[in-house]
Amino acid sequence: MGKTIIISNRLPVQLQISNGTIAAIPSVGGLATGMKSVHSGGDSLWIGWSGLTDEEIPESLERDIDTALAKHGSSKVRLTEAEVEGFYFGFSNRTIWPLFHYFLEYSEFELDSWNTYKTVNQKFADAILEKAEADDVIWIHDYQLMLVPQMVREKRPEVSIGFFLHIPFPSFEIFRTLPWRREILEGLLGSDQIGFHIYDYERHFLSSVRRLLGLEVSFNDIYQDNRIIKVDSFPMGIDYKKFSTAAEEHGQRTVTEQSELQQRLNKHKTNDPEAKFLLSIDRLDYSKGIAKRLYAFEYFLNKYPQYKEKVRLIVLAVPSRSNVPQYQLLKREIDELVGRINGEFSTVSWTPIWYFYRSMPFDNLIDLYTSSDIAWLTPLRDGMNLVAKEYIATRTDGTGVLILSEMAGSANEMNEALLINPNNFEQIADTIDEAINMPKEEQRQRNGQLQQRLKRYNVEKWAQSFMSSLLAQKERDAAHVSRKLNDTRLQTILNAYTSADRRLLFLDYDGTLAGFHNDPQKAVPDEELYALLDALHQQKGTDLYLISGRDKDTFSRWFQAKKYNMIVEHGVWISQNGEDFRMLENVKNDWMEKIRPVLESFVDRTPGSFIEEKNYSLAWHYRKTDPDFGNLRASELTTVLTSLIGTDDLSVLNGNKVMEVKSSNVNKGRASVRVFGEKDYDFVFAIGDDWTDEFMFQELPDTAVTVKVGLQKTHAKYFLENTKQVRELLHAFLKET
Ligand code: UDP
Repeated sequence: MGKTIIISNRLPVQLQISNGTIAAIPSVGGLATGMKSVHSGGDSLWIGWSGLTDEEIPESLERDIDTALAKHGSSKVRLTEAEVEGFYFGFSNRTIWPLFHYFLEYSEFELDSWNTYKTVNQKFADAILEKAEADDVIWIHDYQLMLVPQMVREKRPEVSIGFFLHIPFPSFEIFRTLPWRREILEGLLGSDQIGFHIYDYERHFLSSVRRLLGLEVSFNDIYQDNRIIKVDSFPMGIDYKKFSTAAEEHGQRTVTEQSELQQRLNKHKTNDPEAKFLLSIDRLDYSKGIAKRLYAFEYFLNKYPQYKEKVRLIVLAVPSRSNVPQYQLLKREIDELVGRINGEFSTVSWTPIWYFYRSMPFDNLIDLYTSSDIAWLTPLRDGMNLVAKEYIATRTDGTGVLILSEMAGSANEMNEALLINPNNFEQIADTIDEAINMPKEEQRQRNGQLQQRLKRYNVEKWAQSFMSSLLAQKERDAAHVSRKLNDTRLQTILNAYTSADRRLLFLDYDGTLAGFHNDPQKAVPDEELYALLDALHQQKGTDLYLISGRDKDTFSRWFQAKKYNMIVEHGVWISQNGEDFRMLENVKNDWMEKIRPVLESFVDRTPGSFIEEKNYSLAWHYRKTDPDFGNLRASELTTVLTSLIGTDDLSVLNGNKVMEVKSSNVNKGRASVRVFGEKDYDFVFAIGDDWTDEFMFQELPDTAVTVKVGLQKTHAKYFLENTKQVRELLHAFLKET
């Protein structure tokens, strides 16, 4: 492995310029910490924006800045003020952020900022390309850089690229509203691996890929042309040790060592031992639901008036993106709400809400975490929410109650918390009451389990598991490459072909010789294909067989005049040298009466699907249906058919967007082996793209050259990527002889 290149919008260091000197101070944020294990030593580079625009960087200091950054393994991307405005405050924060957090009404679709987003993404990509070498591993972070993977892939197809999205990926219904949805998906698909915090985001992404790009998805693999892209979830953790050790240390401080904030918090506690602190910490962002939380608090005080003068809500709202108008409005709303609620409920000795609009130093953050009986974190939508994890990590004596929104990614791994719907005030009020009265023993038991998990899957583990999975993906690709029909392997096959006296070729039709069409009847052979097949058919010593699941009437129409050998309906019928079709297997079709109504009921309930009736099989096609819905119905149909068929002599074949019911004793494997037995062949070749062709690959003798079209799992010896390559191979057969 070469070096690791990490790319994020911001670098993990902050630049400070004072009196003409430069200081680069490492950030302490979660990402920077988590990446330590990845970004350390001499063999890694972090590329990002320095936080200063071109206008803010004096030319004379440019060199010093680069040197200061290089000491931290960092390299900067230069951005002008206008670029930061359009790319960061514009497209990233006024289009993607609201849309991906389900605030559709806040999303602005501005062509100018989209264009700037593209330009700036290209700048990041160029910065990578300038440094990247073939065996490097590149890890791109977050929603500001979603086009970068493809931009890098275009120029350096061989490098390994990972992408992690730190925010939610919305459901298809939301994502489809974005005018540039295809470009975003295609940009991301330049990666080898795409990571999300939780499975739901992964699921939404895969659904958009299927529906908008029509790509095939199998489990968490996406098949795109000649590549497989892996999608997986990696829930981000925290630096557990840092928080728990700080909390321990705070617990041992003498009064004089304590911060002023801590001393004041303690004073309130000692004045009234029954008093409870509720803590709310977020960046001031509409996705965090701070205003809603304040309304809910008011609701709680009215529903449970016994807690007046007892419960205090500490609200820490960290300033964020304050030059985006939406955030300014929100700030005003929260200021007013706090004022109104405090005005309504305060007494001479009690203010219900303590409101801080600022960023707190780490030390004070620990004071707040360790002093609060309850952490109340109820975002309306949150990719992860690390504050929830940090709170639990600081509860070293095991006490404390976490009330967490179901809409936060972290809720997925924090089942022992009290999970609530942030829109349900009744539930919230009752849950606060429950939290206040939760026995210490129960608190310890819940937190103990949470802590175990957070300790184990910390941020370092997160980074490592993403990286090792990305590297494994690279190895998987390498394994694939070993079976690709490259020039050397091809030459060996061609030599065998040339020196053979009796050759037998089995060629599947759909997906192998011709591409797919929504209407199978329209996938007619083109002139070039006829010419190719004619030449092979007429070649001395070569027996060509088209082998297909298609019905005999269609193939008769297309190929009988050409006198090609044909095996159709998966092996029921055979036609040799232009003769009429005869049955290769003795099969029955009286079962069709029973099965047809079942398929018809599925057609009725699945728009776009239809039945194809062959002489000895029934096929239900669903290529034209919505992909997710089609797959769902297909698995439903499998269950229904399997129970109906029971031990009968029927089997269900799952082809490419088609399910076919037919006699069990018929398949392409049996048919091809029968033909193989007719003469003494010394070169056998079979090629096909789907599941039904696997029978041939398995049943033909080991000496046969078997080729799969596509990258899916197969029993074939080799693979080719698409129909174009199949035709090239067949042309090569002709050229050699
Ligand atoms: N935080 C901070 N200073 C503060 C308040 C919070 O540095 O005054 C940190 C907090 O410790 C946490 C992060 O900000 O690590 C917030 O992360 P989270 O995932 O909860 O939300 P985000 O801001 O990323 O949406």
